[in-house]
Amino acid sequence: MQTQACQALDRAHHLHPFTDFKALGEEGCRVITHAEGVYIHDSEGHRILDGMAGLWCVNLGYGRRELVEAAAAQMAELPYYNTFFKTTHPPVARLAEKLCDLAPDHVNHVFFTGSGSEANDTVLRMVRRYWALQGKPEKQWVIGRENGYHGSTVAGMSLGGMAPMHDQGGPCVPGITHVRQPYWFGEGRDQSPEAFGRACAAALEERILELGEDNVAAFIAEPVQGAGGAIMPPASYWPAVKAVLAKYDILLVADEVICGFGRLGAWFGSQHFGLEPDLMPIAKGLSSGYLPIGGVLVGDRVADTLIEAGGEFFHGFTYSGHPTCAAVALKNLELLEAEGIVERVRDDLGPYLAERWAELGDHPLVGEARSLGLMGALELVDPATGERFDKALSAGNLCRDICFTTGLVMRSVGDTMIISPPLVITRDEIDELVRLARQALDETAHRLV
Ligand code: PLP
Repeated sequence: MQTQACQALDRAHHLHPFTDFKALGEEGCRVITHAEGVYIHDSEGHRILDGMAGLWCVNLGYGRRELVEAAAAQMAELPYYNTFFKTTHPPVARLAEKLCDLAPDHVNHVFFTGSGSEANDTVLRMVRRYWALQGKPEKQWVIGRENGYHGSTVAGMSLGGMAPMHDQGGPCVPGITHVRQPYWFGEGRDQSPEAFGRACAAALEERILELGEDNVAAFIAEPVQGAGGAIMPPASYWPAVKAVLAKYDILLVADEVICGFGRLGAWFGSQHFGLEPDLMPIAKGLSSGYLPIGGVLVGDRVADTLIEAGGEFFHGFTYSGHPTCAAVALKNLELLEAEGIVERVRDDLGPYLAERWAELGDHPLVGEARSLGLMGALELVDPATGERFDKALSAGNLCRDICFTTGLVMRSVGDTMIISPPLVITRDEIDELVRLARQALDETAHRLV
């Protein structure tokens, strides 16, 4: 299909997620047609390095025949059956075992969903049921973080702390509140990173005391905030938060939708930070985005209570444990493991990206260059002041659009530029990514300064 024909159909009938419909209608869409490895191709013949792995999900890279074949074989055998009403099937049983094998030792169960948002809806219902079964139904409050992202369903957006999402679409789910995020560059530069990390944990404790420690059920957070701007917390943050949660007997929900499956150089971000979460929502890299699947990894404390109590848990989705999605996810995990990809991110690619990415810190437009594993961010600043550009200039979006024409997908969150490439990226491709990012920064500076 020709570019213009595809754009016309799209403009006429397609409402895109997280999009200004009117502006898109006027500008038209780029049409992506095919992909291989770390590259996507558009209908105009451009090859673009996908520095975002789709939406943080194509961990294994594009074009893996093994995943195509796993899907085809499962579709021929049993394309769909549900897991309600005392039924199961081999791919979902095997996937459950594999996930629990990779997860921290105290995690031995998984509840499947179709997406990360559904996983977080499940979290909210499980947390409240858990405390009800413990005879503490007053433990209802869930504390999230400002600028955290946990999905786009009503519960997902309520658990998340994105103000523009809260402002649209009516009241959030009651019983959810948000505390400050450990975003040192954005909010803590008047203190050392370590002092700021501790201050954020202290703010959590203060909120718990305001709500009443007996009323707080859980704290939900991404090990590293992804959609909020690839925000890596100061080293002091997680140990201090863990201590606060233990002091008041509050469950920890570590949202692993982005950090899971190797992004930070460990199977789960929780393992990187030494967390022992009670619940871990997962999705995205679970199938490398080839098919939609998510879930909640459930620690023994919660799982044992839910199981031993008996009585039906009135919750589930038509596609919970979808056999074809499960077969693809299982093959994806097997390939990540067999090819040693998580270890390569930890020992080779992560440190190499850190070294190369840090070089961008010398660019006049960059106030901070940070990375962890294969996730990175650049904070754009006005070279004249070292502070943010005037918002009206939309420096981040400008840089993002320039990147695309330069041949690199880099996402903008305000004036923070983000990368999260496929985990199969090579050192040479990291060099290319850094070169293209610098080229885009130069062009952005040329237009703004
Ligand atoms: N949780 C986190 C941390 C995410 O980054 C996302 C999506 O970006 C979600 C949940 C929601 O996942 P989904 O888009 O699959 O519903």
